Amino acid sequence: MRELTASVQCRSTRGEMDYPLLAQVFFLHSACALVFWVGFSWTALLACLSVYFIRMFGVTAGYHRYFAHRTYRTSRAFQFVLGFLATTSYQRGPLWWAAHHRFHHTHSDTEADIHSPVRDGFCWSHFGWLLYRRNSGTDPKMIPNLLQYPELRFLNDVYPLPPVLLAVSIFLFGEALGRAAPSLGTDGWQMLVWGFFISTVLLYHATFLLTSLTHIVGQRSFDTPDNSRNSFLLALVTLGEGWHNNHHYCPSSERQGFYWWEVDVSHYVLKLLERLGLVWDIKAPPKRVYARERRGERDRRSFAG
Ligand SMILES: [Zn+2]
Ligand SMILES: [Zn+2]
Repeated sequence: MRELTASVQCRSTRGEMDYPLLAQVFFLHSACALVFWVGFSWTALLACLSVYFIRMFGVTAGYHRYFAHRTYRTSRAFQFVLGFLATTSYQRGPLWWAAHHRFHHTHSDTEADIHSPVRDGFCWSHFGWLLYRRNSGTDPKMIPNLLQYPELRFLNDVYPLPPVLLAVSIFLFGEALGRAAPSLGTDGWQMLVWGFFISTVLLYHATFLLTSLTHIVGQRSFDTPDNSRNSFLLALVTLGEGWHNNHHYCPSSERQGFYWWEVDVSHYVLKLLERLGLVWDIKAPPKRVYARERRGERDRRSFAG
């Protein structure tokens, strides 16, 4: 595992660009243009959306709420399943993701934050920071609780493998579907372009908006030391992660939409998994969140009276 040794650097010394990564990201985006060659089918669109949302769940419930914040508990086997699922998103491995995200919470919107749109602009926080070699390592000091699992260290080291396996599986599934049900109008190449390339690029930018947009656009429900915001639209496409100001206020809470109207699909799925016995000890928002509301109501009533 390559170690991150210099997270805190002045922005003027961004260092060397990670050219192999840049080539991979460019290839993934360019491959979406193959859509003009493979065409459209409702089956391919359904595959694109399904693969997008399943992997978004891996990123939000796995990488973010479990590996980075430990907001619930699970078995070692299901922990690996979550890690593997999230790694198919092609956003590096679970240890890298958790380490960088913990660093973000420790230094949000300060000079040390590695992806603050407030300090360094939208483009840097959206994807620029990812493309530099200094951010490609994993700082073991940020993830001491995860290092004890050799299977997670392995997953972190071979992170390109799960997405490649997914791409091959989608292609083979599309080929089989094309032969078994020609009326669906799809084949392996079409499923590969929609189900993997387009789905992955959409997943990239929805996830990246959580480091860029959620610190500049939206409502602030809580007075946090950073510039985090809540966004209903972003919460819909990221399965609940758009309640970023709520999350910065209570990072230890699994639930990020604190009220029924703050839609948080990852939370609903995790509650279902809890009923099935796959996860447990889901951490609820602290009482101070709702006590604050009650206090506000009391103050309003006494003022009216
Ligand atoms: Zn944040
Ligand atoms: Zn977080």
